[in-house]
Amino acid sequence: MLWYVVVGLLLIGLVAAVVKLFYDVFVIARQELENFFHRRSPLSQQHREILQEYSAYYRLLAPEDQKRFERRLQRFMYSKKFVTRGFKVVTDEMRVLISASAIQLTFGLPKIYLANFDRILIYPDSYYSNITQRYHLGEVNPRAGIIVLSWKSFVDGYANLKDSLNVGIHEMAHAIHFENRIKNKEYDFLDNGALQKLAEITRREVPIIREGNGHFFRDYAGTNAYEFFAVSLEYFFEKPLQFSEAIPDLYDTLKKLLNQDPVALYQGR
Ligand SMILES: [Zn+2]
Repeated sequence: MLWYVVVGLLLIGLVAAVVKLFYDVFVIARQELENFFHRRSPLSQQHREILQEYSAYYRLLAPEDQKRFERRLQRFMYSKKFVTRGFKVVTDEMRVLISASAIQLTFGLPKIYLANFDRILIYPDSYYSNITQRYHLGEVNPRAGIIVLSWKSFVDGYANLKDSLNVGIHEMAHAIHFENRIKNKEYDFLDNGALQKLAEITRREVPIIREGNGHFFRDYAGTNAYEFFAVSLEYFFEKPLQFSEAIPDLYDTLKKLLNQDPVALYQGR
């Protein structure tokens, strides 16, 4: 009699596990299918309004470029999984504006969606990283395929457009740097001549920053070549005119590398 009970319970357990498995597969498949259609749909009016309100870059674009920006943004947004850490709901503002910072950087390039990075982790504020054992405002982990951002710092970067601090641009700059070297469908999309020139200028400028006698960039750019690149792109988008006057060869190199010119954009050309 006891055997019947044991076998019965095992069978019930097995059926429950199979049902759960099918349900999980169904949920994932439905989500994937939804994302597939979303990626090909136009940006919603609600999301466009978020761009209009908060993205100065988007507002500066010509109408036809705004349309192109929206298509790319929609595709990026529905290709990534946004995950919260320490709070519950990912808002539309988070999804739209984080995606917009990636599209801003890659807008002059062929369609680049940072394929290696499929998850975006959002913390409410600065967070403690177990990898570096320090507090961070953001980081990228190419092996795990994640981009991490503090939402508070991200918003601060947007709120003050000309302070040349922008965590969104900074982390996306790291991400495209890695993406260019990872052998996937988006491999090697940055201009090699411009990359070489960038490496030369980095070798010239980093020691000057480290001397600490004043440099156009903040000190953090002197940490290493990666941080130099990420910080230089924050200045590229936030203080383009001063940048182009302070370090013209670097400005021109970044202009060539990203195939876009924020000075011209600000001047409405
Ligand atoms: Zn960095």
